[in-house]
Amino acid sequence: MDKVKLIPPYGGKLVNLIVPPEEVEELKAYASRLPSIQVSERVVCDLEIMATGGFSPLDRFMGEEDYHMVLEEMRLANGYVFPIPITLPVEPGSDIKLDQDIAIRNAKNELLAVMTVEEIYEWSRDDMAQKVFGTLDLRHPLVAEMSRWGRLNISGGLRVISLPKHYDFQELRLTPAQTRQRLEEAGHENVVAFQTRNPMHRVHEELTKRATESVDGTLLLHPVVGMTKPGDVDYFTRVRTYKALVRRYYNPGRVVLSLLPLAMRMAGPREAVWHMIIRRNYGANHLIVGRDHAGPGKDSAGKPFYGPYDAQKLAEKYSDEIGVKIIPFTMLVYLPDEDRYEEVTKVREGTRAASISGTQVREEYLGNGRKLPEWFTRPEVAEILSESYPPRHKQGVCIWFTGLSGAGKSTTAEVLTYLLMEHGRQVTLLDGDVVRTHLSKGLGFSKEDRDTNIRRIGFVAAEIVRHEGTAVCAAVSPYEATRNDVRRMVGADRFVEVFVDTPLEVCEQRDHKGLYAKARRGEIKGFTGIDDPYEPPFNPEIRLDTINHTPEENARIILDYLVKKGFVRRPEDEG
Ligand code: ADP
Ligand code: ADP
Repeated sequence: MDKVKLIPPYGGKLVNLIVPPEEVEELKAYASRLPSIQVSERVVCDLEIMATGGFSPLDRFMGEEDYHMVLEEMRLANGYVFPIPITLPVEPGSDIKLDQDIAIRNAKNELLAVMTVEEIYEWSRDDMAQKVFGTLDLRHPLVAEMSRWGRLNISGGLRVISLPKHYDFQELRLTPAQTRQRLEEAGHENVVAFQTRNPMHRVHEELTKRATESVDGTLLLHPVVGMTKPGDVDYFTRVRTYKALVRRYYNPGRVVLSLLPLAMRMAGPREAVWHMIIRRNYGANHLIVGRDHAGPGKDSAGKPFYGPYDAQKLAEKYSDEIGVKIIPFTMLVYLPDEDRYEEVTKVREGTRAASISGTQVREEYLGNGRKLPEWFTRPEVAEILSESYPPRHKQGVCIWFTGLSGAGKSTTAEVLTYLLMEHGRQVTLLDGDVVRTHLSKGLGFSKEDRDTNIRRIGFVAAEIVRHEGTAVCAAVSPYEATRNDVRRMVGADRFVEVFVDTPLEVCEQRDHKGLYAKARRGEIKGFTGIDDPYEPPFNPEIRLDTINHTPEENARIILDYLVKKGFVRRPEDEG
């Protein structure tokens, strides 16, 4: 195989937008007097890569000419291939004016850069969606996100004061120049980049090793840690798997692990070409491009947005010009009888082959606390994944009781709490009446105060659930919209709404606190069910009848539901 030199067509010089250290203080003082804009996480990611030269030769958020050329011809105005528009959208009406400097800040208001505004222009969401993503379908995550972007783009020279700060995995956050340096030290002319947004299993290990060997090169393991597809495995977990693999299973002289703070666009074929340019800048001259590279999944009609090999085809087309050769991601399968991986096309018919899909990993294995087999993933990786994705009976859950005062929420919640603890769950009971003596002390019963009360309980419940605990909440929570907010805060798949459906007459008859009598006499105003509405849930997970069932029977109905959903282990499954 002929060797490609490690120099991109524009001479390989990396763009550097970072101001020299001796100018930082002065520029900071100047910037503090400027009008400023706060930019999105995506823009911050773009800025970080651009500032250090990862998008070279691009040195600014695109101006109008670049923007249109990129849409129409996948090129910058100067002729270099560039497939993805990198823009800084803002809302009109802000104090952004032509030929003036503005400070660019992140969501936390930290100063990142100063831009001299040289262009302000309109852009069209539909035009960009159609040309770059080939669709207007809102199922495409970027098309959906773009609806929220500002209507004007701004562009101009950038002076970067500070790169976004990262406190995690600092030793792996390498700039293009640092990555090139490491690759150079490894000493092999060829460099094969592997782009990934998923945990790495044996098949990926096998594939990257074969690719690297085929060109006698170094592997640049280059996972994306900026923004990926919503719902992906979080990068903390992923990076732990990459580190474990590099430490134990790769030849140290043949691999460089570097984290890429890229905000992916899920643009399939165009994204593959973009990845080639980026990896070129980081020092690679080969890129592994798989089936459905950077694919966003299926559209609203259930069809994949891009064909499985569209990305490989487009990448091939620009390969020479960019100077990156494509190594197609061959489909490998595991042959249990021979204990090895082989390319699908080389497997003789009738040979036993094994594979596990991503869904199976999550549902059949991790969800049930089953260990992933060693032929599929290295034990270190299996361990990290099982820590991040514990089985359901170790995941958090919130049981939310709602119903009129006196319906039986507290009574039933108390019984349930004991049953859950008997079954090995750690429970926090958040009872409305009790919460109102501390967390929500001072709040009354106006609509606003009640919403605040419920949101506070919801916030605490969400934190408990996030830390894998069980939150049992019992408050009247009379308003549907607020209960739905809480459901979202906690996470819909971890939220069990229990409607204690006791009719008003029965609650009023019970009146164990004497409040209904007071409300009827007008001594309490805005009492739920009397002169303030109770909006019953439309579709609660569980509805309880307290007339024909005792609190204990009802608590067992809830427990059975939780067992069925896997949140509580059946006693017979325990050790
Ligand atoms: P809430 O928390 O909904 O305001 P409580 O649980 O404090 O209601 O009060 C319910 C009252 O009704 C208690 O006095 C309880 O003993 C009585 N009660 C009678 N039957 C039931 C039942 N099947 N379930 C729950 N409570 C019942
Ligand atoms: P909410 O969801 O409305 O904030 P909580 O469960 O926190 O309800 O508090 C409701 C409890 O407070 C009732 O069970 C009742 O004992 C008492 N209470 C006092 N005033 C009212 C009122 N105006 N409406 C409903 N409950 C009230």
